[in-house]
Amino acid sequence: MVICALHDELLRDAHDFGGPDLVADIHHEARTWVDEAHPWDGTGDEPGDRHSAYLAVWWQRIDLERAERIGTLVQRGDGRWQPIGPVRCPDGHTFGPRRVLLGWIPCPCRGHHVWTCQAPTDDGLCGLQTVHPVPGPRCREVGIG
Ligand SMILES: [Zn+2]
Ligand SMILES: [Zn+2]
Repeated sequence: MVICALHDELLRDAHDFGGPDLVADIHHEARTWVDEAHPWDGTGDEPGDRHSAYLAVWWQRIDLERAERIGTLVQRGDGRWQPIGPVRCPDGHTFGPRRVLLGWIPCPCRGHHVWTCQAPTDDGLCGLQTVHPVPGPRCREVGIG
């Protein structure tokens, strides 16, 4: 299998989220799917379809794993703890460097992470917010939600 930058990133996420077990699990699922969807007899160059199909499985699994962990902290490979955030705003803009503002609203429940989308739109910036955890009835009293 060719290792590309995207796969590298997905691998790192899988490792940080679930350790070697999760990496092995996703790898197994992706390989099984690739062999079913794009059988290859092993001769010549490996068809590019196989690589994209392999990555697609990785992408979906990491997306799910990440969604389950939004607002929690994971320890990254370099030892830093980092809050897991969403990868896109409710409108579908993909977050990236300088494309999202990370905030924190103190609240009687403890507090909420807030991600504000900075994607450029026709009339400025998107500005849609993702709040985690989702505010409960008592949070609304202090103006969140
Ligand atoms: Zn947006
Ligand atoms: Zn709250």
